[in-house]
Amino acid sequence: MEFFDLHCDTAYECAVRGGGTGLREGARHLSLDRGQYLENWTQVFAVFMPDEYRGARAIRHYERVRDYLYRQESLLPGRLEILRDAASFSGSRAECRAVLSVEGGSALAGDPERLRALYDDGVRLITLTWNAPNELGDGVLSEEGRGLTEAGRAVVRGMNRLGMAVDVSHLSDAGFRDVADISEIPFIASHSDARSLCGNPRNLTDGMIREIAGRGGLIGLNFHAAFLRDGGQATAADILRHAEHMLALGCGKALCLGSDFDGCDLPCGMTGIESAGALYEDFLRENYSEDLVRDIFSRNARRYFAKYIFKD
Ligand SMILES: [Zn+2]
Repeated sequence: MEFFDLHCDTAYECAVRGGGTGLREGARHLSLDRGQYLENWTQVFAVFMPDEYRGARAIRHYERVRDYLYRQESLLPGRLEILRDAASFSGSRAECRAVLSVEGGSALAGDPERLRALYDDGVRLITLTWNAPNELGDGVLSEEGRGLTEAGRAVVRGMNRLGMAVDVSHLSDAGFRDVADISEIPFIASHSDARSLCGNPRNLTDGMIREIAGRGGLIGLNFHAAFLRDGGQATAADILRHAEHMLALGCGKALCLGSDFDGCDLPCGMTGIESAGALYEDFLRENYSEDLVRDIFSRNARRYFAKYIFKD
């Protein structure tokens, strides 16, 4: 089974909280050992930026998590490779092909000129905000709910130019509108579910879902229990419920996975990367065609990244 996941916080957890045996093995949601059964595994690893870090402290934090991943890459040749160009995207034979992302534009410390440095580091996706306001715009839990700042607009344009995926997960609704107005390249919601099924503001309205899909962007289904249902215990069946809803809104070529491994509370019955195989079987049991399930589990994301991010 091929697997492409648009979001996990595992690198951040390993780098900052430490303990255990890191990325290779260990008891977190995701480890290379427990993901070995996956074929053609591409994993976006986010540098999660805590909202209280700004300026030089934010940069130091970003570099710490980035360096952790670099170190793992050199310690685990053949097992982990950070993708940087079209050749490695299509040619890497590593067990886990990593895409570096930043969750929180505070890593730019307010300076759109820093985009180039992040790009050179290998960052290919930026989630513009976390939940609070930052230099680029307001997150979804900010009281004012403002859109993008001037710096935020400059960053979206700069990301378009460089070929980096603009991610609206965590962004305020006004920010979403601004990205939709500015971005000339299809944008993505790396780890968000459907708000009409679960009212959490981190989820996307039906209008947003249609807009992302209609433009050729991506939406990664988030496994976080609190985003899957408003009350009661979430299960894997709720992930299918959100998938069904998005497919009905025209997401056949936009729907992907954005597990949020090591940044979420998993639904009852799921334990981590090893649960992806059972989820795949769940989709097939719901009478989705194998073609569609393969699109959701890897090919939609693969097509997008080949077309817009890792291009020659
Ligand atoms: Zn997140």
